[in-house]
Amino acid sequence: MQITEIYKSIQGESSYAGLPCVFVRLTGCNLRCNWCDSEYTFTGGKKMTPGEVEAEVQRLAQEGLVEITGGEPMLQEKELVPFMQRLLDLGYRVLLETSGERPLADVPAAVVKIMDVKCPGSGEGASLRADNLDALMPRDEVKFVLVDRRDYEFARDFVRQNGLTGRVANVIFSPAFQKDAAGARDAAHCMVDPRTLAEWILADGLDVRLGLQLHKFIWQPEAHGV
Ligand code: SF4
Repeated sequence: MQITEIYKSIQGESSYAGLPCVFVRLTGCNLRCNWCDSEYTFTGGKKMTPGEVEAEVQRLAQEGLVEITGGEPMLQEKELVPFMQRLLDLGYRVLLETSGERPLADVPAAVVKIMDVKCPGSGEGASLRADNLDALMPRDEVKFVLVDRRDYEFARDFVRQNGLTGRVANVIFSPAFQKDAAGARDAAHCMVDPRTLAEWILADGLDVRLGLQLHKFIWQPEAHGV
């Protein structure tokens, strides 16, 4: 497996935000989202066997949450699918953060998929594989990262048209963070003001969760490995 980093931190996103979590960040992505904060994963990394990755996860935590992220981790599906099953067998709760551009049908059912559906403002708005909606399970989560009102309306209409709130555990609307954000740990770096987003969600009566990237408020926004 090609690995950018493995570390333990506090989960910053999804309904698992706030919980301690080991992150396994795989190298490589086939998308180029305008607001991507993980460009350092596009190249480089270190080749590790699944056994070596497992040993490092176990060194960091004997139990609890493990998030598989990237980059786009499903680009390494051949190694990753059995690796996620191995983590499940060891008793970990496994989260998979994915864009939904690669097929997800073979992801073990007990893995919580967190599918980041790209909105137009990302520049990758047409990247979702439509049949991945059928691979979603009731425990999964769908996230929309928003840069403006157009993205919000796209997400709102997508949720309604696909009946998402009844199909997955959580639908999350999250403001994009400015890519070059540095210094102060505050909401001024959000590309949609969280208060404005809250007002839009309430006005439309959406049953979705407003998500802020917790780690950007705990550590400096430009920090890696947190
Ligand atoms: S899919 Fe994720 S890692 Fe890839 S470009 Fe988009 S935000 Fe960055």
